[in-house]
Amino acid sequence: MRRPSTIDARGCCTIYGGPTFEPNSIPKPYFCGMLPSDSIEQVVELFSTLPTIGKKTARRLTFHLLRRPIEEVEKFAAAMRFMRENVRECEQCHTFTDKDVCGICSSTKRNPYVICVVEQPSDAMAVERTGDFSGRYHILHGALSPVDGIGPADIRVQELVARLNSEVTELILALNPTVEGEVTTQYIAKMVGPLNIKISRIARGVPMGSDLEFADDATLARALEGRTPV
Ligand SMILES: [Zn+2]
Repeated sequence: MRRPSTIDARGCCTIYGGPTFEPNSIPKPYFCGMLPSDSIEQVVELFSTLPTIGKKTARRLTFHLLRRPIEEVEKFAAAMRFMRENVRECEQCHTFTDKDVCGICSSTKRNPYVICVVEQPSDAMAVERTGDFSGRYHILHGALSPVDGIGPADIRVQELVARLNSEVTELILALNPTVEGEVTTQYIAKMVGPLNIKISRIARGVPMGSDLEFADDATLARALEGRTPV
């Protein structure tokens, strides 16, 4: 197969001349639709498997890396490999950590009586950024979704029940406002119901800085339901 050598601004190959053209005519560039090397194509394919990365962004990232010094690219590759080899789930809360027990679970300054249940480690980080929660977390790594075949065994819900000892007095369910989040909230409430533990859920409402008229009906209904005295 002939390998074209010119790369255009889109990261695609552009070669002059079609399959046939007149000797004295002006040759027009044509787009043959393929990348100039298999290794580039492979990296683009890999990047485009990442969430929110489309083909266009994948090509941009690939060509950016291609223009960086080899040491910098090696640093990227080594950091990713090191992270993948060393980061694991915390034995208690199941967030990602490079120790057996994460910093929050091992901290004596955190309230061990209250556990905030979230879907992903990034959700725990979002709660943590508020600076208003001093308890511990439990990461489910997903939510129940019967339609997609995701059941209780596929998320860390049994692990949550197992860590509910006499020390824990309250569970705060902070799952996403989706059908899956709702199903999971109801499931956990039912599982934990017989235990003597207070269960609460975070309120839903209108985001700061947004207009009421643009809020969807369900959000507005939830905001009214969760109204608080001024
Ligand atoms: Zn932990």
